[in-house]
Amino acid sequence: MSRKLFIAGNWKMNLSRSEAGELARALAAKIGHVEAVDLAVCPTMVQLATVGELIQGTQIALGAQNMFYEDNGAFTGETSAAMLRDVGCRYVILGHSERRHVIGETDELINRKVLKAMSEGLEPIFCVGELLEQRESGETMEVVRRQVEVGLEGVSAGDAARVTIAYEPVWAIGTGHTATPQQAQEVHAMIRELLAGRYDAELADAIRIQYGGSVKPSNAAELLNQPDIDGALVGGASLKADDFTGIVQAGL
Ligand code: PEP
Repeated sequence: MSRKLFIAGNWKMNLSRSEAGELARALAAKIGHVEAVDLAVCPTMVQLATVGELIQGTQIALGAQNMFYEDNGAFTGETSAAMLRDVGCRYVILGHSERRHVIGETDELINRKVLKAMSEGLEPIFCVGELLEQRESGETMEVVRRQVEVGLEGVSAGDAARVTIAYEPVWAIGTGHTATPQQAQEVHAMIRELLAGRYDAELADAIRIQYGGSVKPSNAAELLNQPDIDGALVGGASLKADDFTGIVQAGL
């Protein structure tokens, strides 16, 4: 099975409306017609509509960085899956380490969001990854296994094919310390094995597993060449059109 690479930019809480517009226009011009790799950008909630309009008609899809699991009602500050669909989102990042470790989201909460996203037709980019102390104490596999198991609890085989898993070691996010291709491959292979046990080998083979953590044009090719790395979730380098383009080109 050859999986199509999927490269997504997580703009996090960055960029004014005009800056986001400028970046979206530049990406549309540079990589808007790339078909060999699936592409997405994930701006802040308030810029989804603006960016969505600017990438319309290109190969770049729109994703959000978070959502809530309820349909509507008294949930101040939250955004529903249906609202994300309505504004043109195809993807939603769930369980990002900053939401786990800064905001305090649990595996169980993330699981509710994953299930809701799926039921509303969104495709989750479901993030997992260990902290530095967990890696240093040899707990990486156990931590990631639990995150995948709980996060995907109740996700049917039919829906699982629409999930992208992003393995993002927390110590590599925004730090400039990329995992070595071997370190990343080892965890990706474990996740795929876990998926094969949970579903079956054919489905596990079809599910994309992105790597995230200080991916840049200079290290992208080596990471993307690993057999179980099927793309990248890119933070810092996705804020510069040339850097994100360089990463996409490494995948072509
Ligand atoms: C991320 O936020 O998902 C990420 C991987 O960030 P960075 O590329 O900046 O490490």
